[in-house]
Amino acid sequence: TSAHAELIIIGTGMAGIGLARALRRLGDQRSITLISADSGDDYSKPLLSTGFAKGLKPDQLARQSATDLAEELNIQVMASTPVEQVSADTQTLWLSNGQTLSYDALVLATGAEPRAPFAIPASVSQHFFVINDLDDYRRFYTALHERPARIAIIGAGLVGCEFANDLHASGHQISLIAPETTPLPRLLPEPLGVALGEAFGEAGIQLALGRTLKDIDIGEDSSVKLTLDNDAVINADIVLLATGLAPRTGLAKTAGLAVSDQGIQVDRHLRTSNPHIYALGDVACIDSINAMYVQPLQACAKALAATLSGTPTPVSFGAWPVIVKTPLLPVVAYPPLIPPERWRIEGEGSDMSALGEDKDGNLVGFALTGGCVRRKVELSRAAPALLG
Ligand code: FAD
Repeated sequence: TSAHAELIIIGTGMAGIGLARALRRLGDQRSITLISADSGDDYSKPLLSTGFAKGLKPDQLARQSATDLAEELNIQVMASTPVEQVSADTQTLWLSNGQTLSYDALVLATGAEPRAPFAIPASVSQHFFVINDLDDYRRFYTALHERPARIAIIGAGLVGCEFANDLHASGHQISLIAPETTPLPRLLPEPLGVALGEAFGEAGIQLALGRTLKDIDIGEDSSVKLTLDNDAVINADIVLLATGLAPRTGLAKTAGLAVSDQGIQVDRHLRTSNPHIYALGDVACIDSINAMYVQPLQACAKALAATLSGTPTPVSFGAWPVIVKTPLLPVVAYPPLIPPERWRIEGEGSDMSALGEDKDGNLVGFALTGGCVRRKVELSRAAPALLG
């Protein structure tokens, strides 16, 4: 069967749903179909890594079901329906259920997917998890059986550190394993990373930093036995992979759009290399910037809604720092776009400021820990915009 919508949005993350909402807020009445590979529930992804400490059940994280969303916005929502292919020439897409749909305008908001760092042996694969959407959270929540577990987290970036803190706070025994020697290596210069590592260590999180995995095997009592490169062994009931995200560009490639490792290439109007197709959110790369945070995607949703409703509006981003949700040691970071000439480190103990400066002494980025996070507003005002 075949159907038509004036606007099709693929993806029901914060980008796809945010755009549909922004359009209706502007009074745009066109027919909109929102398609999702997942449950289509409206949820806030940042809450996934703060939900366990608060004891939140998966359904408490869903703000709205796909059905309620469809009714509220007067749109069609097709949940659990992956799109398999897009033909930009005929403005048609093919769904996994065999249906085809045609569009006047198409928006790709397909997000980013977890990178698999290595092959996971089939014998232990049921112990390995990622948490990148609400459906993943549901699976992980069920696997925990509401009992304290030994959880090995692989990867010490934002996602790995936030889950380490949150799962620790909810009573689980955590090991954090990563090849880098300090946590948050892309957000924090070393002395601040050391401070976060110390806060984790003092709380009882076991750190295996500067370590890679040598072997993965079945352990005792149906656990996983992880052997590190220094031959240390970590036994875990559950392994959580937090080894980075890559823009989900497969569908854009089927449409022949310009794509790089950083995402679907779009201009300031969020237009791809095809005039009828737009992209935003974690999948989109604007002028070589793919921020992968909420504030930039919200700015994109607002700008694109205006553009689609007849007021062409280029997007711009301010100096918007990332707030890392690690209550054991609060962290705020606005990483410089290019490595700074030097980091000026101020403060003592775990209360530190790191100011990234160029060769002329101009502030190009910053990182703050502990009590120094209160400098966030002052430093954001002084730093250059992310996309000016
Ligand atoms: P997604 O939410 O990934 O949505 C993609 C959608 O596309 C999904 O609905 C998916 O089903 C659909 N899809 C993909 N392929 C297809 C297909 N072929 N057919 C149909 N549908 C498809 N950012 C912050 O600013 N602050 C934070 O505190 C913060 N915390 C975070 C914590 C965690 C644990 C994670 C993982 C991220 C966090 N982020 C945070 C980042 C932020 O959540 C993301 O930038 C944002 O949610 C991305 O939204 P999106 O809509 O672009 O993508």
